[in-house]
Amino acid sequence: MDHFEYRDRKLFCEDVPVSELAETYGTPLYVYSEKVLVQKLKEIQTAFAPANPTICYSVKANGNVSICRLMGQHGAGFDVTSGGEFFRALKAGPAGSKIVFAGVGKTDAEIRYALDQGVFLFDVESEQELLTIGEIAKSMGRKAAVALRVNPDLPPKTHVKTDTSVKGVKFGLDIETVVDVARGVVGHPGLAVVGLHMHLGSPILKVEPYKQGCAKGITLIKALRELGHDIRYLNMGGGFGINYRKDEAQPASAFAAVILPAVKEIGCQLVLEPGRFIVGNAAILVSRVVFTKSTGGKHYVIQDAAMNDLIRPTLYGSFHRLWPVQPAADVPVEPDVNGDPDDPNPFRAMANCFNQDVVGPVCESGDFLAKDRPLPTLKRGDLLATFSAGAYGMAMASNYNSRLRAAEVLVTGSTHRLIRRRETFKDLVACEEDCLT
Ligand SMILES: *Cc1c(COP(=O)(O)O)cnc(C)c1O
Repeated sequence: MDHFEYRDRKLFCEDVPVSELAETYGTPLYVYSEKVLVQKLKEIQTAFAPANPTICYSVKANGNVSICRLMGQHGAGFDVTSGGEFFRALKAGPAGSKIVFAGVGKTDAEIRYALDQGVFLFDVESEQELLTIGEIAKSMGRKAAVALRVNPDLPPKTHVKTDTSVKGVKFGLDIETVVDVARGVVGHPGLAVVGLHMHLGSPILKVEPYKQGCAKGITLIKALRELGHDIRYLNMGGGFGINYRKDEAQPASAFAAVILPAVKEIGCQLVLEPGRFIVGNAAILVSRVVFTKSTGGKHYVIQDAAMNDLIRPTLYGSFHRLWPVQPAADVPVEPDVNGDPDDPNPFRAMANCFNQDVVGPVCESGDFLAKDRPLPTLKRGDLLATFSAGAYGMAMASNYNSRLRAAEVLVTGSTHRLIRRRETFKDLVACEEDCLT
């Protein structure tokens, strides 16, 4: 899978054996492929090139400064959802990088900070927020460029916790109210309403929702222009799905095929905010088996990565492919899994495999990376790779159970370097130490 491949039953990231990385840097370890990161960004840039788009890498998916910097070096702007992500984007991006700022709860301080730092667009999610941004900008003698984020009210398209465009979710303005809200700020001295934004949810494996969203967007942009707002940007957000199983994802060109005609029709500059699509398949999480045990008819593999390192299985019931870094000679080199994202049991029979739960050391029954997963016999010290772990993996990592967050390594060809060092016990208490009396 994309520069993570088995050669002679040894998993490589680009030209580096993963086992070597585990020896050098320890486990749990996030291993990123620079080639995949750049290729996936390029894939979007190429597919949407006819629209000369502004591609804003979504920092939320993975905010590592070195990864953001790589994105900036290859021409991306940034999509941020907090002051902290804004800070990361500034640290990573070349001067003048375009930064779009979304989120339902921007504080006054964050709004001021963004204006001070030359935010490209605020994606505005409520009428109160719009008026607040207007007031703050006016008080600073500025005009804030905003895109109104609409909730286009489309049928469910992904996990309920990450579907952001069904009626009643907290995101965006109700589609019925956008025009009224926009009417209220015509001629506002602190606001330039220059765009329409939507982010449909994530991950989305079909193009149809984008087609429907674009159609609704076109109607709205026409109405906003009639009010006198100079709408120049259509921001279609992120959400493009990736391969967690096999080959279920659409290429960027498939999304472009439905989005580009809309952009052309309405005569806007296109903005996109891809996160997962770029970084999701660009990393694996490497862990080491600590113990195995069987109880109550179940077989457990206890390894040193846990829900604090990768919470997606626990939080969303997400599926990640998982396989030994060096599979034995009598088992398949890779798991035989079909790519149907809706199949609850996507495995074909595999030689010398039996169902096991892969769990971590955290004190929660919900701490697992995989459940009832056909895997070969594993033993203490074996290395495991959890695939497609680049997005919403390290970004959501925590210190729960006072576990140290993992290290991150970036591989380029046959070279590799640390892009985040492993935390230490000292780091763990750093914010408390000064407060001790
Ligand atoms: C999370 C988010 C994104 C990125 O979503 P991906 O699925 O990672 O592409 C883009 N825009 C907004 C507003 C978001 O909240």
